[in-house]
Amino acid sequence: MNGTDRQMAALWETVRNKRYAEVIVEVRAAEVDRPFHYEVPPSWAQCVHVGTRVLVPFGPRKLEGYVVGFTSETDKPEKTKPLLEVLDDEPPLTEDLVELASWLSERYLCTKAAAVQALLPSGMRAKATTYLKIKDIEALSAFLPGTPEIELLDLLQNSPKTTKEQMLSSRPEWRPMIRSFVEQGVLEELYGVKQAIQAKMITYLICPLSQEQLQAALEEISPRAKKQKELLAHVYDLGEAAPMKDIFAETGASSATLKPLLEKGWVVKEEREVLRDPYGVQHGERQTKLPLTESQQNAYNEIRSAVDSDAPRTILLQGVTGSGKTEVYLQAIAACVESGKQAVMLVPEIALTPQMVEQFKKRFGDMVAVMHSRLSAGEKFDEWRRIRGGEVEIVVGARSAIFAPFRRIGLMIIDEEHETSYKQDDHPKYLAREVAMYRGRQHGATVVLGSATPALETRWWAHQGQIGRVEMPERVRGQKLPKVRVIDMRLELRERNHSMFSKALKKGIEERLERGEQIILFLNRRGFATFVLCRSCGFVARCPECEIPLTYHKARGYEQLRCHYCGYAERNPEQCPDCRGDHVRHFGTGTQRVEEELGRVFPDAKVIRMDVDTTTGKGAHAELLQRFRQKEAQILLGTQMIAKGLDFPDVTLVGVISAESSLYLPDFRAAERTFQLLTQVAGRAGRHELPGEVVVQSYNPEHYAIQFAKKQEYEAFFQHEIRVRHAMHNPPFRELAAFTSVNEDEDKALAVARRVEERMRRELSGREEVIILGTSPAPLSRLQGKYRFNVVIKYGRFKTVGAEVRTVYQEMAQEAKKLGGYLSIDVNAQMIL
Ligand code: ADP
Ligand code: ZN
Repeated sequence: MNGTDRQMAALWETVRNKRYAEVIVEVRAAEVDRPFHYEVPPSWAQCVHVGTRVLVPFGPRKLEGYVVGFTSETDKPEKTKPLLEVLDDEPPLTEDLVELASWLSERYLCTKAAAVQALLPSGMRAKATTYLKIKDIEALSAFLPGTPEIELLDLLQNSPKTTKEQMLSSRPEWRPMIRSFVEQGVLEELYGVKQAIQAKMITYLICPLSQEQLQAALEEISPRAKKQKELLAHVYDLGEAAPMKDIFAETGASSATLKPLLEKGWVVKEEREVLRDPYGVQHGERQTKLPLTESQQNAYNEIRSAVDSDAPRTILLQGVTGSGKTEVYLQAIAACVESGKQAVMLVPEIALTPQMVEQFKKRFGDMVAVMHSRLSAGEKFDEWRRIRGGEVEIVVGARSAIFAPFRRIGLMIIDEEHETSYKQDDHPKYLAREVAMYRGRQHGATVVLGSATPALETRWWAHQGQIGRVEMPERVRGQKLPKVRVIDMRLELRERNHSMFSKALKKGIEERLERGEQIILFLNRRGFATFVLCRSCGFVARCPECEIPLTYHKARGYEQLRCHYCGYAERNPEQCPDCRGDHVRHFGTGTQRVEEELGRVFPDAKVIRMDVDTTTGKGAHAELLQRFRQKEAQILLGTQMIAKGLDFPDVTLVGVISAESSLYLPDFRAAERTFQLLTQVAGRAGRHELPGEVVVQSYNPEHYAIQFAKKQEYEAFFQHEIRVRHAMHNPPFRELAAFTSVNEDEDKALAVARRVEERMRRELSGREEVIILGTSPAPLSRLQGKYRFNVVIKYGRFKTVGAEVRTVYQEMAQEAKKLGGYLSIDVNAQMIL
């Protein structure tokens, strides 16, 4: 064979292998949750790949889809239609992302379409549109003026860019007419695609003339058209294309001046794409590496050798607050990039502040892309294209940045890996840590999980040797961890202090206000769950089966305490079962009430309140923090959103109003969360020159989570908590999946949940390591007027029950739908709401 023959043979081979494309169509219904086959026109074979976005006929509709594979002729798929359109020159999804999508749908039981969509920025979603083109103008012109046919003809001739959809939305009565014209061949339908987000274009001007041509042109222009001459000379002098806007600004010219030059071809317009840079280019000086401390160096070496090894590895970087984890990340990323690989760095959404991003931009310049939910859709789309196009080597972002379309990942870092925000609460309900480890296996990359208070699972795997672990036990500048005082609020009550501030906290605040230092007050309010607490003795009502605090309910006329895991219920006690006192109260204080109280007790203090209500607008969060940093206020009062990542030099007192509000969430992770929160909060104080103090108020100061947090002893807490988890068959010893049945009608919601429970019991009966908890009202038992019931199952490995869970889920989801509600499932649930 000669060269041409070989090329032909290869081409022919491609055409044959790509006879049919397997396409995931953008419909999130379980009934169509599989790839569909479409014919690939032979001439397209070379531009359709795995990951390519296509337009396909789907029933009466034209839908967008993604190619996930190919089938050759011999496989004889069902009756097929051809692809309508190939939507991108380069496939938006890489092959490994297509594989990841399939894993996501298996692991988290979501549809393949939902999994694929999760991997792409929202701006990718195109809108398929239809245009009408006149094929037989004579047939149309034959109608008389004033008839709808002529009106349609006029419209199509005058504004050919009107889509069929637009036309039908203003003239729905035209539908039959249009359909019959299409059938008769008078009109033709063309499919076009409107990208949901357009690339941003800027007009540039350039002068294509030679020196002599320019002279000739200048002479040709009338001497009175001075502006024209000036403009032409100016564009010529620039020597290269420049933005029209700038040229107009510099010369004072306008479109009117430009027009004749364009017509003569002396100046040419050029549309160029620009990328929106959400943070602007940082022209500041490059920040250089800091010399590492001994334990930083040790951690860095460990990560570095893992990155160099090309084998997938996961390392827990356990470093106390202020131990300088960020510097280790920065240097490890630099090393990774130097070795020709790419790096992904995840930070919790709220820690992704402009200061944080600036650190990366300063160190790595425009090698960094940033991805998080506060970016506009256009900005996200542009950042995504920079990654896909290979223009950047590093991505910093929140959870979804883990899907960055890189080709050679060497390192993925998850900072504050224990954070709940790393679990997506919508389909696919993925956990970023698991996705990172999956991608790590695909790319031979290293995953670093960084935290001062690792998730119990993570720490356990390190203990078992399944993942590596390095410790950074001291703060960088040797500063002591702040002293934590725990105040027993029962004693305050006994001493007739009915205020929400203990004497110690009040005094602490007064002192700071006098000295001009700053205070952070922290209230972990999760408004929905109200537990019952005796203010005299600290007694909390718990489920006898699950040990989980019972939740106060007032429903159908009477007061009840219920367990949100197993459904156990008892009457609300009038007296404390422990001390017989009558100070039994349900509990829950909001930031607003604390703010009022602050105003009463410290009338001269300026307070900034940060919670979901005051931080909704774009940038509101950053602005409030900035005002606090500039010392516009002495006190920052907030919910968990102020607990992490903030670094204020003048904060010397951190107060926790009530440790209880996280301790008694109806969640087996409540102790862990409380420990993590208290440790993180305490880490906010005394990071700089001034020593810090932490005051924690509690009605249960002897609780182990509070005691260990007081001493900031993660390891001791881990040792204790892991035994509790083992005894209760909770993670990391079992994994949880939660079904939630939702319906406006309480009985229907309950009936579906009961059926799920019954079906699961039957499917998994006698299965080792499986525990099915009873149907119970969800902690959020009524949301937006809908009733919610949970069925929680525990199992060893998802693989061993996945098939059964999927079957029951799919069947029961149909049934829930028929009853006007829905059923959702959360695999590896982190928080059961
Ligand atoms: P962590 O994330 O572990 O809580 P940070 O990364 O915020 O800690 O670091 C705490 C402080 O120490 C930061 O102000 C940082 O600039 C500083 N720092 C980190 N490493 C070094 C170093 N090697 N030398 C001097 N300062 C450092
Ligand atoms: Zn229970």
